[in-house]
Amino acid sequence: MKEVIMEMERYADTNNIPIIEVDSIKFIMKYIKLNNVKKVLEIGSAIGYSAILMANATQNVEITTIEKDEKRYREAVKNINKCNLDKRIEVVYNDALEVNLAGHKYDLIFIDAAKGSYINFFEKFCHYLNPGGVIITDNLKFHGLVNNKASIKTKSLRGIVKRIEKYIEFLNNNKDYVTKFYDIGDGLSVSIKKNEGK
Ligand code: SAH
Ligand code: MG
Repeated sequence: MKEVIMEMERYADTNNIPIIEVDSIKFIMKYIKLNNVKKVLEIGSAIGYSAILMANATQNVEITTIEKDEKRYREAVKNINKCNLDKRIEVVYNDALEVNLAGHKYDLIFIDAAKGSYINFFEKFCHYLNPGGVIITDNLKFHGLVNNKASIKTKSLRGIVKRIEKYIEFLNNNKDYVTKFYDIGDGLSVSIKKNEGK
């Protein structure tokens, strides 16, 4: 298992795949443990790195993870099989915005796919949260660029940073959720639905 994880870190490094930072995944694993999370939905599997580590947080957590890139999807399935986690991790090969999850509910939704679509992901998938569930989002600092706009060289990067800022504003203004922002890894948010009737 440890071997496979180290192999994945090297693969990600060589192939420029933005896997989660160590401190961020530690934070999420701790959250899964402490809150007895049973069902996780991940948007953006890449090669399965974060899904495999989340599955290692406890013995009974189950993960559904969505990836739209075929090569990464295949790599994720391969890595999950190598870790013997295929019974607890299901990889869905599709664009998350096209997936229909009717009938399923999750305790934790981890948003970690296209940074420009965060609001769309939140608005779509918040309906799949169990009561007391949480939405965690990664890369709110976008490799430090959100706080250092002067250093951004291309128009497309500027566009992504703008949309991350919009997402942060969206979370802050969302009356149904309480969101806390953490300066961990590349920046994480934790959004918890307010109790109805309170
Ligand atoms: N969670 C992974 C990293 C994910 S990187 C980890 O930490 O190990 C983001 C991934 O999201 C990329 O592989 C990209 O192909 C995928 N992605 C981007 N937009 C998507 C969408 N709309 N639906 C599904 N996957 C998407
Ligand atoms: Mg990420």
